[in-house]
Amino acid sequence: MTMIVLALDALDTALVEHYDIETYRLDGWTQMETVAHQFEHPFTPEAWATVATGLHPTEHGVTEGGTSSWDNPVIDFASQFVGHLDVHTRAKLGNLITAATGEEYTVGTTDAPTMFDPKYAVVHNWPGVADGDELRKCWQITDGDPPKEQFERELLGMGAQQFGWAREMTNHPIALAGVHVHTVDMASHAYGDQEAELRRLYEWAAERVAEIREALGPDDHLLVLSDHGSYTSFLDPGEVPGKHAFRAFASTTHPDGPPESVYDVKEWIEERVDTGAVRESELDLPTEQLKDLGYID
Ligand SMILES: [Zn+2]
Repeated sequence: MTMIVLALDALDTALVEHYDIETYRLDGWTQMETVAHQFEHPFTPEAWATVATGLHPTEHGVTEGGTSSWDNPVIDFASQFVGHLDVHTRAKLGNLITAATGEEYTVGTTDAPTMFDPKYAVVHNWPGVADGDELRKCWQITDGDPPKEQFERELLGMGAQQFGWAREMTNHPIALAGVHVHTVDMASHAYGDQEAELRRLYEWAAERVAEIREALGPDDHLLVLSDHGSYTSFLDPGEVPGKHAFRAFASTTHPDGPPESVYDVKEWIEERVDTGAVRESELDLPTEQLKDLGYID
C-alpha cells in the first residue's frame, strides 16, 4: 500500500466549495486547523514544516529563512494603503525590496525529525524539509514582469512535473510519497480578483488530482492537504486578494477521514502507512563490462 500526499499550497476550503469541485473532496474532507507564528497569517515554509514534523514553528525552527514578494510583510503593509495589488505591481514591489535589502529568496530547513525520514518514505520537494529550491523558483516566475502566457506556461509546466512525479510513485514499492505543488498559491495571487481565471486553474489542478486518484492501486490512498487558503475579492470583500486565509483544506480516500489539524498530520500518516510496502533488492550493475570499457576503475 502506498500513501500519496499532495501538498497543494493555498488550496482554500471556501473556494473548493464556491467552485464546487468534487474532485478535491475525495471520500472525506475538512477545513484543517493551521498555524501562524512569524506573521499574523499562515506562512508557507513555516506551515509545511509543521505538517511534516507535527511541531510548532518555534520547535521546528523554519521561521527566519524564507521570504518572497508574496509573503513579504512590507508588501502586505503597503497593500493596506493601495488596496489590491495586481500580480505585476506586487512582483515589481518584491523586486524593489529584494534590490534594496539584498534579501534573497531562501527557504530554511528543519533539523527536527520529519515524516519523510524513514526508509519507507520518499519526498520530492517540501518547503522546510526537502529542496526548498523548487518553491523559490516558483516564486521567481513573476520576477521581471512576465506576460500572462509566460506566467502560466512556467507555472503549469512546473506543477505538471510535480503531479507527474506523484503519479509515477504509485508504481513503486514504497509506503509514503509526498510532494509540494505551489500552482494554486501563485494562481491565487495572480487571479485573486478574477473569479473565472482562478476557477480555470483550480480545475486544472483538480484534473491532475483525478489522474493520480485513477492511478492508485486497490490498497493505495491519497491525502490532499493545504497550508492555508487565500482571500479573493469576490468571496472576501475588504480583504487583500491573495492574502493567506486560515482556510486550510484536507481530504482523503482513507475511510478514517482526514487529519483535523496541521499538528496531527505526521501522526495520522505514521499510524496508517504500510511500513512493509518497501522492497529493496540489489541493483545488478554491469561493473565488469564498464571497467573493460574504461568508464570506471
Ligand atoms: Zn502556502
